[in-house]
Amino acid sequence: MRAAEIADQLTDVLVTEEEIQAKLVELAARVEADYEGKDLILIGVLKGAVMVMADFARALKRDITMDWMAVSSYGASTKSSGVVQIRKDLDTDLHGKHVLIVEDIIDSGLTLSWLLENFESRGAESLEVLALLRKPEAAKVEIDCRYVGFDIPNDFVVGYGLDYAERYRNLRDVAVLAPHVYS
Ligand code: 5GP
Ligand code: MG
Ligand code: MG
Repeated sequence: MRAAEIADQLTDVLVTEEEIQAKLVELAARVEADYEGKDLILIGVLKGAVMVMADFARALKRDITMDWMAVSSYGASTKSSGVVQIRKDLDTDLHGKHVLIVEDIIDSGLTLSWLLENFESRGAESLEVLALLRKPEAAKVEIDCRYVGFDIPNDFVVGYGLDYAERYRNLRDVAVLAPHVYS
């Protein structure tokens, strides 16, 4: 698809590249202060969190380790099924670790609530969540998310890691996918 065709499939840009980068710098400063003197492992949730992990990790002016988990709950649809499946597990033993989960978006909250329970059972010393985006109106379960980038309306968004049927992940901004694309 060329730029003009992609533009036709999007409606509003909700968060620009510049806004994302500025917010990640702000969140990085908070994380640096909160975890001072502690080892920190960032756990990214594949694949949506790839961009936020890459930029957030580099905004941190401190040493971290990184691991990845792949779960699926959406398939090619735009609604959460609530059924979470592990596609790639962690390589790291979380026992005694300070864990920060890095997520693209909290929508229903079902995926994160499942992940939090799963990670708690692995004996982490502490467990917090950073999410670039959150849709408060879509919440089915409350997630205690310490670091939130932007609260957005209850629209299906793409870009900056977020896909529709695996496309649009490489867009630099976060934009609303035009309903004509999926309805
Ligand atoms: P949940 O509903 O469980 O909170 O969301 C699970 C996952 O669905 C998110 O991590 C994200 O990958 C995907 N998701 C939720 N809302 C959106 C959205 O608006 N756009 C896209 N592309 N993915 C979403
Ligand atoms: Mg995700
Ligand atoms: Mg997806």
